[in-house]
Amino acid sequence: MALIADKLTIKETFSKELPADPIQENTRRQVEKAAFSYATPKKTANPTLISTSKETADLIGLPDADLKSESFLNVFSGNEILEGTKPYAMCYGGHQFGHWAGQLGDGRAINLTEVEYQGKTWALQLKGAGPTPYSRSADGLAVLRSSIREFLCSEAMFHLGVPTTRALSLALTGDEVLRDVLYNGNSAYEKGAVVCRVAPSFIRFGNFEIFASRRDTETLKKLVDYTIKHHYSHLGAPSKETYVAFLREVAQRTMKMIVHWQRVGFVHGVMNTDNLSILGLTIDYGPYGWLEGYDHGWTPNTTDRQQKRYRFENQPDIGLWNLLKLANALYPLIEDAKPLEDILQEYKANYEPAYHQMMKDKLGLEGSTESDKELIQQLEEALHLTETDMTIFFRNLANFKKETNIETALDKEFLNPVLAAFYKPEELTGNILAFWKTWFTNYIERLTVSNSFDAVRKTKMDVVNPKYVLRNYMAQVAIDAADNGDYQLINDFLDLFRQPYAEQPAMEKWFAKRPEWARNKVGCSMLSCSS
Ligand code: AMP
Ligand code: MG
Repeated sequence: MALIADKLTIKETFSKELPADPIQENTRRQVEKAAFSYATPKKTANPTLISTSKETADLIGLPDADLKSESFLNVFSGNEILEGTKPYAMCYGGHQFGHWAGQLGDGRAINLTEVEYQGKTWALQLKGAGPTPYSRSADGLAVLRSSIREFLCSEAMFHLGVPTTRALSLALTGDEVLRDVLYNGNSAYEKGAVVCRVAPSFIRFGNFEIFASRRDTETLKKLVDYTIKHHYSHLGAPSKETYVAFLREVAQRTMKMIVHWQRVGFVHGVMNTDNLSILGLTIDYGPYGWLEGYDHGWTPNTTDRQQKRYRFENQPDIGLWNLLKLANALYPLIEDAKPLEDILQEYKANYEPAYHQMMKDKLGLEGSTESDKELIQQLEEALHLTETDMTIFFRNLANFKKETNIETALDKEFLNPVLAAFYKPEELTGNILAFWKTWFTNYIERLTVSNSFDAVRKTKMDVVNPKYVLRNYMAQVAIDAADNGDYQLINDFLDLFRQPYAEQPAMEKWFAKRPEWARNKVGCSMLSCSS
């Protein structure tokens, strides 16, 4: 049987070019002046493969046939170390919920190696592969439910066109893991699992912050220079100007990523600086969620339910807040606050028009008119009047005909194309109905002013308004089945999300509002960080 090691081209740079923690024992500690510590994945009792992503395997040059090999399972469950590699955990810090938390690091992620394929390099990282020097008081493991969520969502986000880390494989470890899901003293054993994640790099804002916080400018510079050399090489040789350009591009990428989140209704849930990728990729799928009812104030994360710091509408501002922390961390290398402040100002100035354009695309508006901004704001207001499903509303809005005569339409007949989006259609009366009537009258007027045919608009809208997103309850249905040993739905969903913008008649049942049973169910509307 072919060995996975023979199929991959190992090309390690992070651990070769950056300073290593000299201590090689796997004991929990503060790690100074080092970008990482060597760490060996924990052996698993009885690993079984649940699912693999062939698209991610393609990235690293692994043919389909190899995904079923014993060697693949051994490597990507952590039981076998690839020859010539030395796995490691990264050192980083972070601001958690607005407060500096000191050293965090890869507490349960272990980088296996980096590989090169078709001119690109990819870091392969196991999540849930056992303790590292950064595990603090936790076990370094991950449970099946959170691993399913990470695996499916990473791939779904990619196919939705949202910058993200990828997932190669999902395997059961055969070990049991103790978790207290609701943090209420009711711990229980759950199935352990491990996901292999893939990205050009897993460096986060927090990797830079940790050195700045320790006034270790020397290691900070090494990490910044490394990041630019390998991931931002088009910016040129290291210099103060290059560092400024680096922050500017990180800011732009972060902003673009967040505009995509707002477009598809994704709420990350834990936008701490240790969970923001320096490459502008969505990273660390924890208690994330998808807007079902369009509610700007929603967050899926129960740990954040009081403050709602990471609610949907706050994501752009938190992106900026996190960039400020990154700017502070880079300051010792630049020693001039002005260009850094300018970048943060630019973020603010650029977000508005980017969001505006994205919303115009969702509405299928061509050209621009002075009233577009108001039209968008009023729609956002209308969507909050009675619970309205975001995905269904925008997807079906493409079916609205600009010839509709609202004046002569009976009652709420004009809403028929989008009616399926309303959770309580009986609430569409009085002022609410009047508000919608006005809005659609304005929408028709706008389409008449500068839009081409309905069919053209629909084609354009259908590539920005997904038909299928990983609704919170869908992930939970897949998890419940998997807990009972049935993994079919995981693969069905993986397949469904390969084409989230396409009509898939056989999968139409997933183009539906959240069922009532899921409204207040743990895992569907409430998620804790316990994973
Ligand atoms: P998160 O909020 O999930 O991104 O995690 C914050 C920090 O806690 C990171 O340093 C993680 O590596 C660490 N962490 C989370 N869960 C575990 C775990 N089960 N074992 C060890 N470290 C963990
Ligand atoms: Mg994290």
